[in-house]
Amino acid sequence: MEVTVVCHQCGSALPVEAEDASLQINCGNCRHAFLLGFSDAVRADTTVDRCPVCAGGDFYMRKDFDPKVGVTVIVIAALISAGFYYYGEDLAAYAILGGAALIDLAVYSRLKDLTVCYRCHAEFRGKYKTTADPFDLHTADELEQEYERRIGKR
Ligand SMILES: [Zn+2]
Ligand SMILES: [Zn+2]
Repeated sequence: MEVTVVCHQCGSALPVEAEDASLQINCGNCRHAFLLGFSDAVRADTTVDRCPVCAGGDFYMRKDFDPKVGVTVIVIAALISAGFYYYGEDLAAYAILGGAALIDLAVYSRLKDLTVCYRCHAEFRGKYKTTADPFDLHTADELEQEYERRIGKR
């Protein structure tokens, strides 16, 4: 399983592979040190039961959407289609734009689910089965505050 640790000092995303039971990492940006403790389930990629960063057990699920991919498809299609349009091939130009929109839709519907820690915003990617509930604002408010008090941010 790949875990993306979010540095609570500077907000950098730090991707780590959950292999060893414990791992010390330093933020590449602000040098803040993290001691990560991976549970057996996280290392085995079976489920996300305990957060290796904050030891919390509350997670939500969201789509792993990378907006850059969708935009790239549309931009490339627009360029090609502008070329066809220039040579008077209007139909081909529209067909390409329509095709690109379909590709975007297909990409979106095939997006994988991602588990996120409510407290420290660590993200968990892997082949495990996502069991967390969708995002709940009330839970997020409570747990984020609790975590920020614990790390002395408030
Ligand atoms: Zn940092
Ligand atoms: Zn966490």
